Amino acid sequence: TNKRAYNFNAGPSALPLEVLEKAQKELLDFNGTGMSVMELSHRSKDYDAVHNETITRLKKLFSIPENYEVLLLQGGGSLQFSMVPMNFLQEGKKASYILTGSWSEKALKEARLFGEPIIAASSKENKYRNIPALNEIQLNPDDAYIHITSNNTIYGTAWNEFPDTGDIPLIADMSSDILSKTIDVSKFGLIYAGAQKNLGPSGVTVVIIRKDLLEKENTNVPTMLKYSTHAESNSLYNTPPTFGIYMLGEVLKWVEELGGVAAIEKRNKEKAGLIYDVIDNSNGFYTGHATPDSRSLMNITFRISDEELEKQFLVEAKEAGFVGLNGHRSVGGCRASTYNAVPVETCRALADFMVEFQKKYQ
Ligand code: PMP
Repeated sequence: TNKRAYNFNAGPSALPLEVLEKAQKELLDFNGTGMSVMELSHRSKDYDAVHNETITRLKKLFSIPENYEVLLLQGGGSLQFSMVPMNFLQEGKKASYILTGSWSEKALKEARLFGEPIIAASSKENKYRNIPALNEIQLNPDDAYIHITSNNTIYGTAWNEFPDTGDIPLIADMSSDILSKTIDVSKFGLIYAGAQKNLGPSGVTVVIIRKDLLEKENTNVPTMLKYSTHAESNSLYNTPPTFGIYMLGEVLKWVEELGGVAAIEKRNKEKAGLIYDVIDNSNGFYTGHATPDSRSLMNITFRISDEELEKQFLVEAKEAGFVGLNGHRSVGGCRASTYNAVPVETCRALADFMVEFQKKYQ
């Protein structure tokens, strides 16, 4: 275990050591079945228990109200960019998109295939350093829905307060911050997230959908791409990603043991705080990309103004055992992703490394 890396990968990313060890222990013989979860029939009693407990646990942990369904799908956040408008937008109809980064742009692009999405607010001109103020958002009462990206993985910003959209369903891509902090799920019509950052391995996509929306789906949608298909069959319409769902369940147990989402949120604030403090106290040696009021707890983006020194930082960080600190290929710079499973000590090690690096080269 002392060979575990300081893993700041943006996703897929660190998983809790305890979960990996448990999966390892159960790999050859899950629950006395004489086989791994991967080898169970998805119609078996043993798998059924894993599946249902995972859904129940997520509902409880994330305080999901009774009038919502939890679906376990495939295709990642990217397929949700298409499924949302395919099900809820129609030709000639409008929906609002709030642009806060590249992932929101990708979601918007898909919506254009089905209807007339409108950009209700955008921080693009400010290089996506901030989340638009709530009073800048122009809502259109005819909107089929409003789409936001709750955490912007590439730019390192997050919505710290969500807009109140009244009767218009608020749809959020929470791929990079689901379960990282407590939220009021009842404000949303639909939430989606790929599992590979905060919830488990890649291959599972969590969708939380308010039940009344299932009745508003377009009719000409292929069976596998309809939310109602999966809601009606408890996400067992076809073979689900069984091993990923088992891992998701184990990650949820781990969150529960840590004290639930409020405890994780506190820990995430502490972790991000360690690194933001170094940036803020560096006299401009490190500069954060996000404006302080829009900072993400999950992706901490920063630069060193001297480009050569920035390269040197990434080289030395790598030598010191830190993985995944390069910014996204589209923006460069540095990024530390501090998802739920990244330990406090890993963040402290990075903060210490940053302080030492500054002392050495300033
Ligand atoms: N949305 C956000 C906010 C993301 O960070 C990502 C992936 N990094 C995606 C969507 C795309 O997710 P996937 O790779 O699961 O399709």
